[in-house]
Amino acid sequence: MISIPKIKIIIKFSLDSFFHITADRLIFGIDKANYLDTLNESIPAIPASTIKGVLRQQIENILRSKGKNICYSSQPEKMCSDNKNICLTCKYFGSPRIRSPLFFEDIIINNSYKDIRFGVGINRKTKITIEGNLFSYELCFGKEFVTEINGFLNEREEALIASTLLFLGAKFSFAIGCGKTRGLGWIKLTEFEAFIDQAKISREEIHNCLMEVLEA
Ligand SMILES: [Zn+2]
Repeated sequence: MISIPKIKIIIKFSLDSFFHITADRLIFGIDKANYLDTLNESIPAIPASTIKGVLRQQIENILRSKGKNICYSSQPEKMCSDNKNICLTCKYFGSPRIRSPLFFEDIIINNSYKDIRFGVGINRKTKITIEGNLFSYELCFGKEFVTEINGFLNEREEALIASTLLFLGAKFSFAIGCGKTRGLGWIKLTEFEAFIDQAKISREEIHNCLMEVLEA
């Protein structure tokens, strides 16, 4: 019987500032509402696609700085389309043609609160304020959040590489949502645990795998 390794990654982040992730939601008096939990619409949340996207972006930046040839997730039309000839990031995070073996979930921000701020629209090219373009947006804050990522890989080695890549992506502080340059959305890793078939992977094993991934 062939067994398919199952991985479970639990990552805890501290939220170091307010954040805003624009939702497809209308609230009277606010131009840009924040994304909320789909089950309980009073709780702010982070969409699965947002956390997956930023972790991938972090991993891409680090791998590229080490000279790795990987696809740009910002250019989906140029991403890998052949499962047999696939780059490291598309293999684990997928592409428009290839399914990712990892499953991300929406993240709920417990004990959070909201605030409203005002912003001014600025023309990206000229950097000049767009006249009459004052808008309001909802900001959310919480102390920390936990995300759980699950996946089924073909073999243990792949499960270990997937866990290592996620550790690499989570390791350095980064921002989620809008307003990074205004100091919004900054998060920091506080805990990382990875399990393959319910057995915890040691820090040493992740560290050794990381060295191999970065040097290969
Ligand atoms: Zn690729």
